[in-house]
Amino acid sequence: MNLDLAPEDRDFQQDVREFFANSIPEDWKKTVRAGLRLSPENLVAYQRRLAERGWGAPTWPKQYGGTGWTPQQLHIFWSEASAADAPAQFHQGLELIGPIIFTYGSQAQKDFYLPRIISGEDWWCQGYSEPGAGSDLAALRTRADRVSSEDGGDEYVVNGHKMWTSYAHVADRMFILARTSNEGRRQQGISLMLVDMDTPGIRISPIHTLDEKHHTNEVFLDDVRIPAANVVGEEGMGWNYGKVLLDRERMVAAATAMFLPQTLRAVREAATHRKTAHGLLIDKPEFKAKLAQVEIEALAVQAMVLRLMADAAAGADSGPRGSMVKLRWSELTQQATALWVEALGPKAQHFAALDDESALTDDMPFALKGALYARVTTIYGGSSEIQRNIIARRALGL
Ligand SMILES: Cc1cc2nc3c(=O)[nH]c(=O)nc-3n(C[C@H](O)[C@H](O)[C@H](O)COP(=O)(O)OP(=O)(O)OC[C@H]3O[C@@H](n4cnc5c(N)ncnc54)[C@H](O)[C@@H]3O)c2cc1C
Repeated sequence: MNLDLAPEDRDFQQDVREFFANSIPEDWKKTVRAGLRLSPENLVAYQRRLAERGWGAPTWPKQYGGTGWTPQQLHIFWSEASAADAPAQFHQGLELIGPIIFTYGSQAQKDFYLPRIISGEDWWCQGYSEPGAGSDLAALRTRADRVSSEDGGDEYVVNGHKMWTSYAHVADRMFILARTSNEGRRQQGISLMLVDMDTPGIRISPIHTLDEKHHTNEVFLDDVRIPAANVVGEEGMGWNYGKVLLDRERMVAAATAMFLPQTLRAVREAATHRKTAHGLLIDKPEFKAKLAQVEIEALAVQAMVLRLMADAAAGADSGPRGSMVKLRWSELTQQATALWVEALGPKAQHFAALDDESALTDDMPFALKGALYARVTTIYGGSSEIQRNIIARRALGL
């Protein structure tokens, strides 16, 4: 891992900087600065812009339409995006199912799905968790029974109940884990399948989160017919692919660590303007110490991410380090958003639903919403307790 920029990396940095200077509308920046996520429509528009520039899939190999960037280039790209108040790309197609399709999928699946992920045409959601099957995912009860279709082909009839499915309400497609057999160990007989959200028998019911927004859903599958060709890899081997995917999800969280400076800049800015009885908040030693601690740890996590990416590029196993990064990144996000609320004081109170992003002003931080929603970072993608179990087992041999 070398943090010095080579001349070609400097040129690349310049290109990326120019792209972000010219491609991010002011209202998107305001949304990011307010601590809000861009609407799905705008995230798709952002994805299209990146795809047009050839940068739709920054982490993918070139042969599948990705950039084939080195870890150093990825770091530059994310750092510049963060500095320009650009959003993070929506990850469920790009970082979760896309890589599984190009690693284990059939040629037909690669040809059909991968370009649509890069262009932003398909929005994917992840149908893993169920009531009673979150941390203990192998307890999932969604069933997929293989039957002959009317035209003589093979298909599955899927019945089950998925829980907490983020953005199912806007998704075109969902990848699910479903049980195709009860033989053997619980982990055996689980298959990974690709589902078109327009298929009859799918019903979506919203779950509103603490920030009073609609991110998550319950998804009910009643006699949903899925072509056998939509199974990824081998039937019954989904657990193995699913585990790879979960590891990748932790890596995604890691990549998101590169965007921590956006929140930390907002904290600094707010504290610089916040008057207290004894001067500006930014000058208070206790506050300065707290902010410095989070800033230093954010840098440390970023360095760890870089090392992970460099090792992955060299073909080395990341071992439990993905879990370590997920653990620290998620906790730091909570600390950074809580500090932002503290720095803003009464100004952190903006909470009302704001449907029209263009009505945002720079003086409208939704820090409280962000801080409340950040509770989720230590739950989704595998809770902190589960990450600690993995670290205990794989790193400490306990
Ligand atoms: C906002 C949000 C969005 C989400 N989005 C998605 C999505 O898009 N797709 C999807 O499939 N899932 C999604 N999830 C689900 C998420 O992955 C699960 O919530 C998570 O894995 C925890 O599972 P659970 O909720 O069933 O809790 P449980 O597994 O029941 O855990 C409850 C508590 O017990 C602890 N615990 C459980 N087992 C152990 C253990 N062995 N040792 C120590 N402690 C343990 C947990 O850490 C937790 O604190 C989302 C969740 C949320 C809240």
